[in-house]
Amino acid sequence: MELPETKRVRNAAALRRIPSIESLLSRPLLEEAARRLGRRRVVAATRAAISELRNALLDGGLVLPSLEELENEIAAAAAKEPTYSLRPVINATGVILHTNLGRSPLAEEAAHHVLSVATSYSNLEYDLARGERGRRDVHVERLFEALLGVAPALVVNNNAAAVFIALNTLAEGAEVIVSRGELVEIGGSFRIPDVCAKSGAVLREVGTTNRTRAGDYAAAITERTRMLLRVHPSNFRIEGFTERPQLEDLAALAHERGLILMEDLGSGSLAPLDSAGTRDEPDVASSLNARVDVLTFSGDKLLGGPQAGVILGKRDLLGPIRKNPLFRAFRPGKLTLAALEATLSLYMRDGSESIPPLHMINTTKEQIAVRARALASQLARFSALTVTLEDGMSVAGGGSTPGRGIPTVLVALAPARSSARDLATSLRQNDPPIITRVEDDRVVLDLRTVLDKEQEAEIVRALEILSQ
Ligand SMILES: *Cc1c(COP(=O)(O)O)cnc(C)c1O
Repeated sequence: MELPETKRVRNAAALRRIPSIESLLSRPLLEEAARRLGRRRVVAATRAAISELRNALLDGGLVLPSLEELENEIAAAAAKEPTYSLRPVINATGVILHTNLGRSPLAEEAAHHVLSVATSYSNLEYDLARGERGRRDVHVERLFEALLGVAPALVVNNNAAAVFIALNTLAEGAEVIVSRGELVEIGGSFRIPDVCAKSGAVLREVGTTNRTRAGDYAAAITERTRMLLRVHPSNFRIEGFTERPQLEDLAALAHERGLILMEDLGSGSLAPLDSAGTRDEPDVASSLNARVDVLTFSGDKLLGGPQAGVILGKRDLLGPIRKNPLFRAFRPGKLTLAALEATLSLYMRDGSESIPPLHMINTTKEQIAVRARALASQLARFSALTVTLEDGMSVAGGGSTPGRGIPTVLVALAPARSSARDLATSLRQNDPPIITRVEDDRVVLDLRTVLDKEQEAEIVRALEILSQ
């Protein structure tokens, strides 16, 4: 829209009076801000402020702020801008392995080990005894051997890569038999049929969605069959009239017919989990005992380590996987290996309580209730909130223990002046962001996934500000 002549002239004059970026940056307040926050950040805030000012003047009507007002505004904007896009959040959802929130937090020891390896040279691929080139696998291989009595162990970037490279190496151009009840989709992007097709293996589906017997596998075996594949049906659970063969029976069938039995375990729990919500979760040791030939699982699900995919199994099968040219493409970096090594070391020390997801799973409902009551009594001061405690369910997440919950106590917040959805949005905009669930027009907090007292205090602080 054209401005009236007089206004345009006035604004053109105002535009000329906008200070230059250089003159603003040489003001003492912004020089000080640049020293504290970094020059680039202050320059970016100054640019943004000037461009905003220019647009406002062109739209007409705005009075030019004083230099003091402008520099204060810029310094405040620069300080408020988060330095990083990827940053810690408080997970109050009660979903322990939340894929969108980075799955498992690392144990402190693991984080320290990552830091020391990251900021120094290391013996990543250097054999210190011989003074020559070594293998990066050795650092975690020795721990899998000590913990489970198996060697070798291969590590790739995630379990999807582990499944892919195992199928590509062992079954390219051959048939792989899988039960229809196990054709899962994980997180919307990992679908066994697609992974199988890309790997060059030909999928043969047997049985029905709810019932598959060992005989169904046996009947589908042809001379083109190379493998029987068992997939942990993550994310969903078929209740009622279901049947699938024991792993031992599949192993017996595979070995009798000269085939490979591979299992994609998904979560790959290393510790027995006795919480009611996770009792049925299969664990790595049981699969190895059942004589599975190749086993894959994630590093950042119930194992509680970094994003990684682990492949265990027979030496004559893992050797070719390691020689596959894709292995180089899928290999993890030193930070992943450091985190995984330190996490496995905690299992060696029987320190699984210091592994965050295991600690969260094993926290009792009574322990959560004590924390929930303390939080609720602090929040009760805020008149804009109605706070109640309720029984509810946490979930393991990450595809483990589908259909099961872990009993918990929830802190439910009904805001008086806004909708629950708006309160949840404001909490997400807190620094650090607080992620919650909204149920029945209330914001629901599950302290099972809130890591410590400091995070609880931050929740109180954020709600205090939002309730004013
Ligand atoms: C989670 C999961 C995967 C994918 O693992 P990523 O580590 O996320 O790649 C594959 N299979 C099963 C059964 C899973 O549960």
